[in-house]
Amino acid sequence: GKIDSVDVNNVVKKTVQLYEQRIKLKDIKLIEVYETGDNAYVQTIEVNLIQILNNLLSNAIDALHSNSTNDKSLIIKVERDHCDIIIKIINNGPLIKEEVKERMFEPLFTTKDVGEGTGLGLSLSRRLAEEMNAALLFEQTNEAVMFILRIKSIDENS
Ligand code: ADP
Ligand code: MG
Repeated sequence: GKIDSVDVNNVVKKTVQLYEQRIKLKDIKLIEVYETGDNAYVQTIEVNLIQILNNLLSNAIDALHSNSTNDKSLIIKVERDHCDIIIKIINNGPLIKEEVKERMFEPLFTTKDVGEGTGLGLSLSRRLAEEMNAALLFEQTNEAVMFILRIKSIDENS
């Protein structure tokens, strides 16, 4: 791959579009929030960023089962924090249990049925994040599960 100045909002929008059909079919409410304005650039290999977003989006969509009582919602948020661009993928599916939390970044760890998960998504994503000097973090509240990708932004003019 080639390292480029990558427009984060553009890549996020493009990647979310790949899931539009699945999101509609599962009757998920999609909320996209872009708070950085233009000029949110990071130095990376574009397909690596797409790969990470793909993994996080497919996990979030998988977690939104039709038997949940709440409205199913998927929130994608792009924010800036000083020199960092922060991408948040938030879903209100069931919370992640302690024993899953401890192991979910391990290669081949999956809670999904055979054929539905390889258990490679999060471990690969974290490795790709580290390679681009980014951090892939996880947080959850009482209502929502959130994966956070924090990447150093670049001054587009430099
Ligand atoms: P896979 O999706 O193939 O199972 P991953 O490495 O992507 O592998 O994820 C590992 C495990 O982490 C999943 O099987 C699931 O149990 C848990 N997980 C990941 N993302 C979420 C999420 N958004 N909500 C709930 N559980 C999740
Ligand atoms: Mg996955």
